[in-house]
Amino acid sequence: MARLAQTAGLTDVQQEILSTVRDFVDKEIIPVATELEHRDEYPQAIVDGLKELGLFGLMIPEEYGGLGESLLTYALCVEEIARGWMSVSGIINTHFIVAYMLKQHGTQEQKDHFLPRMAAGDIRGAFSMSEPGLGSDVSAITSKAVKDGEEYVLNGQKMWLTNGGTSSLVAVLVRSDEGHPEGTAPHKSMTTFLVEKEPGFGEVRPGLTIPGKIDKMGYKGVDTTELIMDGLRISADRVLGGVTGRGFYQMMDGVEVGRVNVAARGCGVAQRAFELGVQYAQQRHTFGKAIAQHQAIQFKLAEMATKVEAAHAMMVNAARKKDSGERNDLEAGMAKYLASEYCKEVVEDAFRIHGGYGFSKEYEIERLYREAPMLLIGEGTAEIQKMIIGRRLLEEYRFQG
Ligand SMILES: Cc1cc2nc3c(=O)[nH]c(=O)nc-3n(C[C@H](O)[C@H](O)[C@H](O)COP(=O)(O)OP(=O)(O)OC[C@H]3O[C@@H](n4cnc5c(N)ncnc54)[C@H](O)[C@@H]3O)c2cc1C
Repeated sequence: MARLAQTAGLTDVQQEILSTVRDFVDKEIIPVATELEHRDEYPQAIVDGLKELGLFGLMIPEEYGGLGESLLTYALCVEEIARGWMSVSGIINTHFIVAYMLKQHGTQEQKDHFLPRMAAGDIRGAFSMSEPGLGSDVSAITSKAVKDGEEYVLNGQKMWLTNGGTSSLVAVLVRSDEGHPEGTAPHKSMTTFLVEKEPGFGEVRPGLTIPGKIDKMGYKGVDTTELIMDGLRISADRVLGGVTGRGFYQMMDGVEVGRVNVAARGCGVAQRAFELGVQYAQQRHTFGKAIAQHQAIQFKLAEMATKVEAAHAMMVNAARKKDSGERNDLEAGMAKYLASEYCKEVVEDAFRIHGGYGFSKEYEIERLYREAPMLLIGEGTAEIQKMIIGRRLLEEYRFQG
């Protein structure tokens, strides 16, 4: 039987990396994921294994000690990892976004300082845009940086930092009016600061507090936190790229590749849900035959597999577009939107196939059912994706009459 979600045209190196990751997922992640998730336990052994495989440096250029691989290779690895446990892909994702932003926008000194240790997994990244009062509307950010000599003083509260506790480098987006007169468009007065800190909770650096883990319905194991800046002093050479006022664009660039990543996660979770559904459907008997032999269940499986294939194809297309050096916001938005919606639907169908047992914590599908909704929200909700897609379509199909 042809497996679902195959990717044509991969190099030998890509195939080798993927088969190593798939093997790791089958042996080291799937057997322990549900148990760790139920205990909301950080998967330290898994993270150590990924570190050893070089996954934290997958897209970091070789000159900085990474593997210098493409976004496509990265996304396909993420798909495999999310198939094992979505939370683990979340541990890598924010790290990857910060490394990508450094690679694209950092000064030479910033790249030399951070990237080699990020490639080794010794420094791990988190990124922070959201605040208690905003998520979709990034231009409404209220956290502020004020210049004081060769330093900036940061104040404000941030929300929903994936890896907020375990990271040691946070890319934080704040408003910095210095050099930008009143009346400047909101997105032109934002700056990304590279904030180093100790991993952990409490006051992790003078003026910087990570209060504790937010208790979530799913996406457990990985820590999600608030971040409070109260007179946090950051040296001017830790402004990403060395120039203020560029933060919004830098973050949006990071989020664009992050969207491909979330699409890949949706593909991975949907694949796992399909695997669980198709296996269960052949084991469970009703009315004298396996439920897979009832046409209604076969139709469900057909729909699920079609969605898995379609989402995978769109995700691969979005990654390849970015790798070719072209703008991919349309493709990334479409892939993220479709993959996350399909993921939720495929998981729901696999849950229904399990009947009452899907409701039991003994069955893996129960965990997937709580994990899929996160993908509808992270890196921009469906409504935000549709806004991006709609705007881009009107640019491309401008009425010429
Ligand atoms: C587990 C988890 C981890 C996260 N990790 C991070 C992280 O690492 N870093 C980070 O910065 N953020 C992170 N986030 C935040 C996430 O990006 C936001 O939750 C998301 O962008 C939505 O913002 P919001 O929650 O403020 O919802 P809101 O923006 O308040 O939106 C609420 C609803 O209104 C809709 N809506 C908003 N504006 C419009 C509009 N113009 N038109 C139509 N509908 C609209 C939305 O689609 C949504 O349905 C995380 C969130 C979660 C749940």
